[in-house]
Amino acid sequence: MTDTAPAPWTFQWKELYDEVITSGLCTGCAGCVIVCPHDVIGYKHEPGEYVPFHIEEEYGLADCSHGFGNAKGKGCTECTKACPRFRSWEPEADEHLHGRTRKDDELAGIYSDILLVRASDEYTYDIGQDGGLVSAMLIWCLENDIIDGALTSGVENNPDGSPGWKALPMVATDREEVLRGSGSRYTYSANTVAFDEAKDKGLQRLGLVGMSCQTSIAPVMWHRGASKPVSRRIKLNIGLLCSKSFDDSMFDELFGVKYGLKKEDIAKMNIKGVFQIWMKNGDYHEINLKECHAWTRTGCNHCPDFAAEHADISTGGIGNVTDWTLTIVRTELGRAIIKAMIEDGAIETRPGDDDPGAIALMHRLAANSRKRWPNWASGEAAVGL
Ligand SMILES: Cc1cc2nc3c(=O)[nH]c(=O)nc-3n(C[C@H](O)[C@H](O)[C@H](O)COP(=O)(O)OP(=O)(O)OC[C@H]3O[C@@H](n4cnc5c(N)ncnc54)[C@H](O)[C@@H]3O)c2cc1C
Ligand code: SF4
Ligand code: SF4
Repeated sequence: MTDTAPAPWTFQWKELYDEVITSGLCTGCAGCVIVCPHDVIGYKHEPGEYVPFHIEEEYGLADCSHGFGNAKGKGCTECTKACPRFRSWEPEADEHLHGRTRKDDELAGIYSDILLVRASDEYTYDIGQDGGLVSAMLIWCLENDIIDGALTSGVENNPDGSPGWKALPMVATDREEVLRGSGSRYTYSANTVAFDEAKDKGLQRLGLVGMSCQTSIAPVMWHRGASKPVSRRIKLNIGLLCSKSFDDSMFDELFGVKYGLKKEDIAKMNIKGVFQIWMKNGDYHEINLKECHAWTRTGCNHCPDFAAEHADISTGGIGNVTDWTLTIVRTELGRAIIKAMIEDGAIETRPGDDDPGAIALMHRLAANSRKRWPNWASGEAAVGL
């Protein structure tokens, strides 16, 4: 070993539990869950939960039999290798994707282009949250054999069979399945959890759609050499800009009880400075975001990443040009896909400079989120503050 060789990665569930899960840094992204080769990390995709736990209770909450009792350095380390909030996750992800860490003025992450994009296909555009880019991209990548499946978010059905609002991770392998998940739910969906289903289906090249916290999983896994059967399968990383997600109980406790809005009657939601709610009967309501704060998921309170900064392509809906997806292209792969989709006529684009206010707002919101990162945690996520 030379002096410059990296120290062996020895960190196990105990360190993850102490430094991330119980410290408040854990986002509930489920990266540790899907990578565990012993299947001993549980996860409840339920209101008030969204946190991993160890299922072998006999060793205590903080220990893992596959790490516990082994000489230091010899236990299983997969969970910490997959965690995008453990130790120096941010410079590691930046380094892996871009060959360098970010500069002080790159508070919204490293990127090459910003565009406004909409799906050319009218139906995909109509049911998309903003410009329908995410769905159009998944469909195009599936139909052009870039990926053979996608980890997205669907919804549970209402008792009458109509689509409800409880978000559920799902696997999409064709246009119909992709479109089933179009639009945004502002509650949490750990789309990574659909990984096992994708593996069972024999899928090898996956697109992962997820809020910022989920898009850092793959680059961190790649950088730390986490389980190859998991990390190698994730080929495309599509990010959703995100300042917070809400606990599912907000539907009943705030929208239902205070405003009389039944979730089964809600047609669409969006967040544009206020919580916008369109009802199936055509009514429209706005709810002050301050009223929603009490239902912010705990996992979001320390999240420093607004702009899905480790995705290939990050997408959002801020700005004055509504119904177009604000699109931040970050990697060579992201660039190549957008270019090919334009040439194929699958999307229409406008320069991001058509909406300078949106770009300025993205930088402001990114700085705001970065301030949430606690000063007792790894200092690198505070670059530029
Ligand atoms: C919780 C949350 C918070 C967000 N906050 C912001 C914000 O503050 N500012 C901003 O500009 N943009 C935000 N977005 C992103 C925005 O709402 C759109 O998702 C984005 O602009 C892409 O729009 P589109 O029309 O291209 O996507 P579409 O074509 O409509 O596709 C949306 C994709 O997102 C997936 N998805 C939907 N809901 C969830 C969920 N809860 N969890 C995981 N995946 C999901 C769907 O499965 C689908 O693949 C947020 C999204 C979510 C889910
Ligand atoms: S942040 Fe994600 S990977 Fe890390 S402990 Fe929480 S759920 Fe697991
Ligand atoms: S704010 Fe958004 S990106 Fe951050 S942890 Fe919450 S859901 Fe994930």
